Amino acid sequence: LTTYTDEARIALDTLAGRAAGLMSPSLRIGVTGLSRAGKTVFITAFVHNLLHGGRLPLFDAQNSGRISKAFLEHQPDDAVPRFQYEDHIAALVESRVWPESTRAISELRLTVEFESASAWNRLLSRGRLSFDIVDYPGEWLLDLPLLLKDFETFSREALEMSALPGRADLSKEWRSQNRDCDPNQPADEMTARKLFEAFSSYLRACKSDQRALSTLPPGRFLMPGELEGSPALTFAPLDVQPGAKAKPGSLHAMMERRYEAYKTHVIRPFFREHIARLDRQIVLIDAMQAMNAGTEAVTDLERALTEILSCFRQGRGNLLTGLFSHRIDRILVAATKADHIHHESHDRLQAIVRRLADRAIARADFSGATVDVLAMAAVRATREGTVKQGREALPVIIGTPLKGETIAGDTFDGETETAIFPGDLPEKPGLIFQQPKPGKDGGDPPAEESLRFVRFRPPRLEKTAEGITLSLPHIRLDRALQFLVGDHLA
Ligand code: GDP
Repeated sequence: LTTYTDEARIALDTLAGRAAGLMSPSLRIGVTGLSRAGKTVFITAFVHNLLHGGRLPLFDAQNSGRISKAFLEHQPDDAVPRFQYEDHIAALVESRVWPESTRAISELRLTVEFESASAWNRLLSRGRLSFDIVDYPGEWLLDLPLLLKDFETFSREALEMSALPGRADLSKEWRSQNRDCDPNQPADEMTARKLFEAFSSYLRACKSDQRALSTLPPGRFLMPGELEGSPALTFAPLDVQPGAKAKPGSLHAMMERRYEAYKTHVIRPFFREHIARLDRQIVLIDAMQAMNAGTEAVTDLERALTEILSCFRQGRGNLLTGLFSHRIDRILVAATKADHIHHESHDRLQAIVRRLADRAIARADFSGATVDVLAMAAVRATREGTVKQGREALPVIIGTPLKGETIAGDTFDGETETAIFPGDLPEKPGLIFQQPKPGKDGGDPPAEESLRFVRFRPPRLEKTAEGITLSLPHIRLDRALQFLVGDHLA
């Protein structure tokens, strides 16, 4: 899987990093999650709240006033695009629109000068630490298990998954094209392209809001990054007989070669150059979108989380970390967008994430890093209130729904503040894995039983009585930061 050359290269990189670290110690924090999980918003809020001394009561170093300075610096890796913090924060704060989401890897270095809480540490350390924040699509991480699979296994699994409920109707066209072609037929570019297109449009359809499925490798088919349109991506699974050897010059041989090239030239370098050097990791998940889409989506999210965690599992026989000495020691699994629900439901959301993570940890036979879970909102777009209905005071959330969002037949204009009753999360986390009871006629469950989430515009920044503009509001972002980096600032 990994060669000694790989390992030597990482060891050298690490040494070089340490040497540079003598000047300014650094902590590499990976931020991942499937597309639209909230990576861009999280990183922007993280940096903004440190640069502007945001209200972070549970982030000890900031709360106790020990961070004297926070600033952006030139990042150490010249070959990686910079995370466009300035554009993203301008979109959020000035235009009140959500920034452009992650489409490829990017990086940002944020340095803080701080005073250690302990006198002993104050003597030893210079009180300066750089965070190298690495933003990358979770889809790419989900490719790593492919390294252990040959083309036949990849094809078989892809075909099996495509026949699952929730996918079968979307994959019909691709499966029928696949049936019509013989893996032994002569290789030709047009057929390869047609199969690739049918297969990748099925994967894209699985990502739609209604299905919200998560486990859809190969990840670059959804998030191609700089490889968009390249021949290295033009392959698809084939219905090959078990143990069948590819005939030279056949479609099978062509697809197999491209699949292997994808592993060698895309997956391995990505892992070696980026993932193997991380110290900490946050995995963002959109649990509410999955719950909204139904049981299939929740089960699939759990499958994705299991695969993601197995990428970080430590010890012998491990897919990835076994050969490397570098270790990720903390992983945070966080459901963002908790501002879509009332605070009474935050603990429920967290319990659901815990349940998902626990099941994934057990399945991935995970050990090594400390894993914590959190329900948070990197940016809080709503506030809370109550609405009287008869004698009852119902908890609601108040915000400006995005233009075009609808609820009960009303379409919002993107300007008007509205109070919304968001619905309840199940009290018992296990319930999210159970199919809801069908409606009276055996059809879909009644609409009022499903959860309702409306997307809101980013908030207007508040001003204090003295006219000082406050930083972006959040929910539990401080908890996330304390877990991810707090010990290094102790
Ligand atoms: P990425 O693909 O992981 O980079 O996802 P983004 O960070 O771009 O987030 C995708 C979308 O989710 C955004 O455009 C927002 O609509 C929404 N979102 C992300 N984080 C939050 C949050 O903390 N609160 C709210 N209300 N919405 C969020």
